[in-house]
Amino acid sequence: MRPDFVLDSPTLSVVTPMYNEREAVDHFVARLRPVLDGLGVTYEVVAVDDGSRDATVARLLELRQDWPALRVVKLRRNVGHQSALAAGLRSAKGDYIVSIDADLQDPPEAIGEMLEKARTEDLDVVYGVRSDRSTDTVFKRNTAGVYYWLMRRLVGPHLSDQAGDFRLMSRVVVDTLNDLPEQQPVYRLIVPSLGFASGEVTYVRAERVAGETKYPLTKMIKLSVDSVTNFSAAPLRVATWLGVVAFMVCLGLIVSGVAAWGFGVTVPGWTSLYIAVLLLGAVQLICLGLLGEYVGRIYAATQNRPRFLVAFDTDEQEPMTTKPE
Ligand code: UDP
Ligand code: MG
Repeated sequence: MRPDFVLDSPTLSVVTPMYNEREAVDHFVARLRPVLDGLGVTYEVVAVDDGSRDATVARLLELRQDWPALRVVKLRRNVGHQSALAAGLRSAKGDYIVSIDADLQDPPEAIGEMLEKARTEDLDVVYGVRSDRSTDTVFKRNTAGVYYWLMRRLVGPHLSDQAGDFRLMSRVVVDTLNDLPEQQPVYRLIVPSLGFASGEVTYVRAERVAGETKYPLTKMIKLSVDSVTNFSAAPLRVATWLGVVAFMVCLGLIVSGVAAWGFGVTVPGWTSLYIAVLLLGAVQLICLGLLGEYVGRIYAATQNRPRFLVAFDTDEQEPMTTKPE
């Protein structure tokens, strides 16, 4: 049964992917609600549970009891931040959609400013740009620095430095994103590349309110590989160049080998052969690996498997059980 208070087109949708955020969720709701109530627009909050193993869903459903605007969309399993965001963007019904993390590192108070800016300046995208991330760990800041440096080179200079996934988008932008066939979209890169009229709101990145980061190194690496392959075939070209360099080196070795033979200096020749074989082998493996990355992606795209499956959406139906799986 569809609950009757469901809004069909609220002005604002706030989309939040959550993975094992039981500790943060109360803080998040307590701070978000007064901000949204103060905006004077109709809104929904789409909390996408990305297959949490803790009591996140149960707690969200409890909180929903006295905040019906809090909508819970539960995914069947953990699909990662970007795909969870994709699920949220598909579910969101608002004219404007804000994506924000659940750990309060992005201040909900900035949402008002974003909406105001989008409306008065007629913008389709308003990026939240981190002016200061001194609260992030040195490791996070440095890896992020390298990431944004590289991505600016791949995507172009219009990629805002330090714009993460805290941003406001209009319905047109979200419809466009939802229609993209990408299997592993990296929204922070795709959105700027679409070329919609955009503005920025700067904010200071706060410390995670509770719990630990849900982005271990493995997920960071996945995001980086997705980011590069989303935007560039450059690594494939690197493979070609590696091949060219290896070829030159081997050519040199051949010439010197022939010369040595000509001069009658019969070198044992083991070392040079050894190096040439190793070098060529290594280059071939690198190139094969790179090809594999892209071929794998083509394969995944042709399979056209759903990126996520929704277990339930409280806008469609109240769940029978609230047990975490
Ligand atoms: N997240 C998610 N699925 C995941 C990992 C993270 O939905 O597999 C969510 C997480 O709950 C949070 C947001 O993505 O709302 C950003 O994660 P986090 O704050 O842990 O990343 P960090 O700020 O450390 O980069
Ligand atoms: Mg965080």
